[in-house]
Parts: sequence; C-alpha cells; structure tokens
Amino acid sequence: MARVALVTGGTRGIGAAISTALKQAGYRVAANYAGNDEAANRFKSETDIPVFKFDVSDPAACETGIRAVEAELGPVDILVNNAGITRDGMFHKMTFDQWSAVIRTNLDSMFTCTRPVIEGMRERSFGRIIIISSINGQKGQMGQTNYSAAKAGVIGFAKALALENANKGVTVNVIAPGYIATEMVKAVPEEVLKSKILPLIPVGRLGEAEEIARGVLFLASDEAGFVTGSTLSLNGGQYMA
Ligand code: NDP
Repeated sequence: MARVALVTGGTRGIGAAISTALKQAGYRVAANYAGNDEAANRFKSETDIPVFKFDVSDPAACETGIRAVEAELGPVDILVNNAGITRDGMFHKMTFDQWSAVIRTNLDSMFTCTRPVIEGMRERSFGRIIIISSINGQKGQMGQTNYSAAKAGVIGFAKALALENANKGVTVNVIAPGYIATEMVKAVPEEVLKSKILPLIPVGRLGEAEEIARGVLFLASDEAGFVTGSTLSLNGGQYMA
C-alpha cells in the first residue's frame, strides 16, 4: 500500500506543488488549508487530492483534522509542515497580534500537527517529518522579527525531534527556501525584481515551487533514511548555511 502524506497549507503556492509532486510519485496525499475554500476546491478538482480544512494554530482542530485524514487515507507516514503566514512590520511598530499570529501559525503548528502523528510513526518504525522554514529564519530579515524567530525556531525543533526519534526510523528535516516564484513574489514590480531582488541571487533567477517539492520528495524517500536533523538550503546561492 502506498504511503500516506499530509501537507499542511497544501492547496496553494509551494504546498500545492509539494502535494502534487507527492501524488505524482505515488503517495496517497491529503492537503490541508485554512479558509480559502475557493482555492482549495479548485485545487481538489484539478488534482483529485482530498482537502482538509483546519487551522494549524489550533491544537483541538488539528487533532480532529488529522484524525479525519487518517480515517479517509490511513495513518500519516509523511508530514510536511508547510503552512505559514507573514505579518510584516518593523519591530518598534509591531503589535502583539502581528507577533503572535506568526508564531502560532508558523511555530506552534510544529506541536499541533506533529504531536498527533509522531507516536504512530514511532510504533510503525517509519516516519518522515519535513518542515518548510525560510532563508529569513537563517539570516534574519528586516521587518520580519516575528517570521525570522518562528522560522529559526523550527530548525531547533527539528534538530531536537530528530535526536528523539533517530532510532525509531523517523527522520526530521528542514527545507529553507529563498525567493520562490509564488503569486506573492510574482506580484513584485518587474523593476524592483530586477534591481533589488535578482542581484541577491547568484544563480540569477527566482526558485520554482517545484524545486522545493523535489527536495521534499528526496527527504520523504526510503533512500533518505540517513538524513536527519539537517537543513537543506534551496536558495540559488543567496545564503550559504
Ligand atoms: P501561500 O500563502 O501561497 O499558501 C499558504 C498555504 O498555507 C495555503 O494553503 C493556506 O491556506 C495555508 N495556511 C495558511 N495559514 C494556515 C493555517 N493557520 N492553517 C492551515 N493552513 C494555513 O504560501 P507559500 O507557498 O508562499 O509558502 C509556503 C511555505 O513556504 C510557508 O511556510 C512560507 O513561510 C515558506 N516560504 C515561502 C517562500 C516564498 O518565496 N513564497 C520563501 C521561503 C519560505 P488558505 O489557502 O486556506 O489560506
């Protein structure tokens, strides 16, 4: 039987590319989302991947949502913690709401989504936890103290969880993307892209969501069993960590 993969925030952007690549590789895939029903239904009808609406920052909703995934597809073997948001602002102007929304969605979700699946993975002696961080968690970014803190936090989480589960066949790894050509980045005016962003990227172009998905496919595979606690920087050479 094919393994089951759950991708949080799997209906749009990078997450949609990950869900699609996993399905094409033969996994049984569930894609989670927060509230954009229109995008989720479009994704579902285009890909035939079932979608599950629950808020990754809400522990009770995650417990219920993940049990629903398991009831439909079976126990989760591969969890891709991808859902994330930004609420940018300079720290001296930042509100606690901006801070906590980002910490809850991007960091608390490591607990809320991983806790319901980790015991089963340990019992079955196989699991893959793959976390989408960001280059801005590695190097810091102006206007993103909240996001940089959360995205750095997930790297520490992955290393500790990797240690706890290394002898149980469960690996925990992070991918830290740089600038990826998602809707948000594509909306940046052409002249800003050319003058401000592309010069920062040694390979001279934005990354594609499918390139992040290929990293996930590798980390999800049986062949990646010796890789744990690592961070794969997929950023075109922008930051070498
Ligand atoms: P998008 O904004 O395109 O998509 C976000 C997805 O996450 C959507 O499916 C959204 O659901 C879901 N989501 C958001 N909040 C929640 C929540 N509370 N509960 C459940 N699902 C939620 O994101 P990107 O593809 O741009 O980013 C994906 C990940 O990659 C994020 O972790 C981001 O930080 C990281 N990243 C992105 C980069 C980029 O260049 N885009 C660069 C580096 C890292 P809904 O559609 O319902 O809103």
